[in-house]
Amino acid sequence: MGSMSDTTPGLVCGHHHLYSALARGMPAPPVQPTDFRSILEQIWWRLDTALDLEMLRWSAMLGAVEALQCGTTAIVDHHESPNAIEGSLDVIAEACAEVGVRVSCAYGVTDRHGPDGARRGLAENERFLRAGGRGMVGVHAAFTCDDATLEAAADLARRTGVGVHIHVAEGVDDVAAGERLAALAADDWLIVHCVHLDRPLAGTIAHNPRSNMNNAVGYARPTAWANPVVLGTDGIGADMLEELRLAYVALRAHDVTATPDTVWTWLEEGYRFFPEARTDRVRWSYDHADSAWHVAFTPGIRAIDVVSGDGEVLLRDGRPTRVDLDEVRAKATEQARRLFTQL
Ligand SMILES: [Zn+2]
Repeated sequence: MGSMSDTTPGLVCGHHHLYSALARGMPAPPVQPTDFRSILEQIWWRLDTALDLEMLRWSAMLGAVEALQCGTTAIVDHHESPNAIEGSLDVIAEACAEVGVRVSCAYGVTDRHGPDGARRGLAENERFLRAGGRGMVGVHAAFTCDDATLEAAADLARRTGVGVHIHVAEGVDDVAAGERLAALAADDWLIVHCVHLDRPLAGTIAHNPRSNMNNAVGYARPTAWANPVVLGTDGIGADMLEELRLAYVALRAHDVTATPDTVWTWLEEGYRFFPEARTDRVRWSYDHADSAWHVAFTPGIRAIDVVSGDGEVLLRDGRPTRVDLDEVRAKATEQARRLFTQL
């Protein structure tokens, strides 16, 4: 990369939560969150509990459309909806397929809802994968699972030939993750955040700089590890050039000798999860969109057209071709209203 071109391959979001697309504008929690743990309790765990499959469908559809509008043609998703587990991964996969965005699905297994909740989460991963779904075995995080659940998830991943997609040491509450996962983790795992990871752990690291700043969990220092690194948004949209610029300036804040080439490699590592996204083409509003040094210092670059590897136009003049943008937005607004009533 580095020639003068207004096109690139499709981009990959290495860690997303499509279920969070409706969260914007949600009612303020009853108690003001003051740290990472209370942000989970007051915001995300109340939100995921209120989700049903109809809300999820339009949340995923809106998230997929917004990804495509940012030139992101592939998403590694991590999902939780404890009161609508069965079939939830199909709903996400189908919504993305309708829009024309590639997706890898995972259900975030946790013991937060008792042993039955964990069992049903594992079963949803297994059901989806055995039916031929593209995905990984999801685990919320070590600190919300007991050892038996972590072992069961790792075992299911081995048996189904995929990796585990898990949050690792995102906040200080999960500092024991490295120790507890050391004997389980493998190279095909996707280990997300790793801000407070205290030892090397096998897998690809998903770095989510915007989310980490938003939760005040600290800087993850992804260059400190030998692992491959991919960029994710952790549910805050899927604008990977925006995430790249933020990743770059966060890196520079800690190392003024760092260059944009480093964060560009994180973007490209996304193709290890979706090699075929390299065959998608995105045309951008800027004529050096393939240059790390240009993109790092050029806010507001927009995707104009997206053409899939097999030649289908998926985005034309910034609008999705397969679904009606206005209808998706209207339905998502309707479902967001239902969700907010539940909250
Ligand atoms: Zn996440």
